[in-house]
Amino acid sequence: ITRRSFLKISGATTVGLSVAATLPDKFLLWAEEQGMLKATYVPTFCEICFWKCGVMAKVINGRVVKLEGNPNHPGARGKLCGRGNGGAGLLYDPDRLKTPLISSGARGEGKYKKASWDEALNLVAEKLTRIKQQYGPEAVALFTHGTPTDHFLPLLSAFGSPNVGMPSFAQCRGPRDVGLELTFGESIGSPERLDMVNSKVVVLFGSHLGENMHNSQVQDYAEAVGKGAKFIVVDPRFSIAAGKAHTWLPIRPATNIALLLAWINIIIRDGLYDKEYIGAYANGFGELAEAVRDCTPEWAEKETEIPAATILETASLMAKNAPAVCIHPGRHATWYGDDVQRTRCIAILMALLGTWGRPGGTFFATTASFPKMESKPFPEPSREPLNGGGYPFAGGEGVTQAIRTSTINGKPYPIKGWFVSGTNLMKAIPNEKETLEAIKKLDLLVAVDVMPFDTAMLADVILPECTYLERYDALAVGKGKSLTVSLRQPVVEPMYESKPGWWIAKELAKRLGLDEYFPWATYEEKIKAQCAHWGINFEELKKAGTITIPDTAAPYITAETPPKFKTASGKIELYSNELKEKGFDPVPRYTQHPQPASGEFRLIYGRNAVHTFSRTTNNPELHELYPENEVWVNAPRAREMGLVNGTYVTLVNQDGVRSNPIKVKVTERIRKDCAYMVHGFSTSSTSLKKAFNKGADDQGLITRYEVDPICGGTGMRVNFVRIEKEAPHA
Ligand code: SF4
Repeated sequence: ITRRSFLKISGATTVGLSVAATLPDKFLLWAEEQGMLKATYVPTFCEICFWKCGVMAKVINGRVVKLEGNPNHPGARGKLCGRGNGGAGLLYDPDRLKTPLISSGARGEGKYKKASWDEALNLVAEKLTRIKQQYGPEAVALFTHGTPTDHFLPLLSAFGSPNVGMPSFAQCRGPRDVGLELTFGESIGSPERLDMVNSKVVVLFGSHLGENMHNSQVQDYAEAVGKGAKFIVVDPRFSIAAGKAHTWLPIRPATNIALLLAWINIIIRDGLYDKEYIGAYANGFGELAEAVRDCTPEWAEKETEIPAATILETASLMAKNAPAVCIHPGRHATWYGDDVQRTRCIAILMALLGTWGRPGGTFFATTASFPKMESKPFPEPSREPLNGGGYPFAGGEGVTQAIRTSTINGKPYPIKGWFVSGTNLMKAIPNEKETLEAIKKLDLLVAVDVMPFDTAMLADVILPECTYLERYDALAVGKGKSLTVSLRQPVVEPMYESKPGWWIAKELAKRLGLDEYFPWATYEEKIKAQCAHWGINFEELKKAGTITIPDTAAPYITAETPPKFKTASGKIELYSNELKEKGFDPVPRYTQHPQPASGEFRLIYGRNAVHTFSRTTNNPELHELYPENEVWVNAPRAREMGLVNGTYVTLVNQDGVRSNPIKVKVTERIRKDCAYMVHGFSTSSTSLKKAFNKGADDQGLITRYEVDPICGGTGMRVNFVRIEKEAPHA
């Protein structure tokens, strides 16, 4: 893949970054060219999203002038996506949090006084201690995302609370991971272990690669397109990926399970499945065949609005090319509340086609690993973690909204303190009103963040973390075809009075009498010890950024390397006894979901190539490229409603919640029953001067959600909007 084709696949938006350098940067680069200044390259890894791409930061005169992909890093392969290129925009964003802040008004009023670190940390420690004494340690919950988790989760565990909530599970990939684990005994990892580059057919369910810019996956995607792989794209919207597809299936939303069951039916009915693979590795084929007997393409056509002939044709295309068929199980999987079962359907289809662990399908992670480091065991929490619905497959990442509910009603026990790091909860969890209601009940809300995002601006104490370019974080261990270890290290000194997360956690631990859990003076010391334990040369890692431990084992099933499935039966579970025992359908079943009433649109949302949720919307470089979102409306419907492309409209959801004015994009590229917008816009934080009030907030319109009873994931594509014309926008 050339740089040109990589850019092409991602749309033209990334190109602008190369000219977005600020004047001082241009001067520094000119001075370097003239030999007046010398540049250094410091390796680290990116945190603009969670792909953790290796970065080479070019520094001249103490200023980061350019970020490039680290050729040693498997997620980057010498390239960064548009967002990663714009990482210095975060570093030099003038709106960054600069000092610790303590609220000097009512919560949410936005009044703060500057504080010293001692003042702020002492106050947090004092309030946490008071909550612990009055209600027990479990009355404090941590909400977290990304690398800050490596610092604040140990702090929470040492404190004695089991209550952690990661939106990356209940609002994102939780149902996907659980569906795959129930079927194959393991999930697919991050980056997903998809063998797209060797695929002949790739199937995408709403995964809008090219708009969703997970770096190496988009590189694989571009390579697969270049090599002539046929793409089947299932999406109500004609995405960039759909534009490169062999077949676009504009499915009626909420009917994916019907399509999948019909494909499964055809593949079994017509004997197109991999008999040897199923015979050797799978359980429950008979029960599956029986359960899908009536799921004919004609039946599915009525549900999905995809012609039966197309369903048949696409099933046959997959079967003919199996096992080199890559079915992407998605990442953000919380759609309709039956999302574990939708993933189970995808997994079953993978199994029938024999693609799991086969070239062109998925590959296995290396079995190489680093020896565990011994550390002081955390105290056993005296209460069970909150799991409001009793979701049996919720897992260790917690159920965010269950913690929120307990905060509101105090049951089964009170939650009085929230510690929020690396996530803008207001824009991450559905139903902002409920989140605000919970926040009102707290004795303490602490936010650790780089930027004054919506949630931080509701906090009693704000602790300014420095950016990923200014700090050490935990070593990133990657398990793809090889084992890799990557270092995040400071590229420049922390600006203002911001501090690294590890320092904040350690200082709090000291004040809480928990410093024995943080038995190192600096994070560099901790990492050095870890490297020594793992047999890695720290100085070499500092220079290379990423070290790869080669693995000679085949990443696919071979006669010498038969697969091991960590399920209860040791086989692929087409029929899940585990689900049956817990009262769920052992084989996925289709149920109808409500569809929009006349005059309504289903609200769907997604990603843009230069933004990661709300966290990049104020980044000066990325904001310039895509300052506000727009709402896609089907052209004939727009004409009927008299909507004019580029004018502003207001979206009003089924509960009467009104959006900010948002530009309408009139397009043939979306079904008539859907309205689509990019997620994460319209911050209410006035401190974010560029992003404040720009575009419309999809999360604000997501007042309803359907909770998956299996794992607690919140299905969020269950909201409907009406569109009202706006007066001309200034
Ligand atoms: Fe950074 Fe882009 Fe990689 Fe995400 S995919 S880590 S934003 S370079």
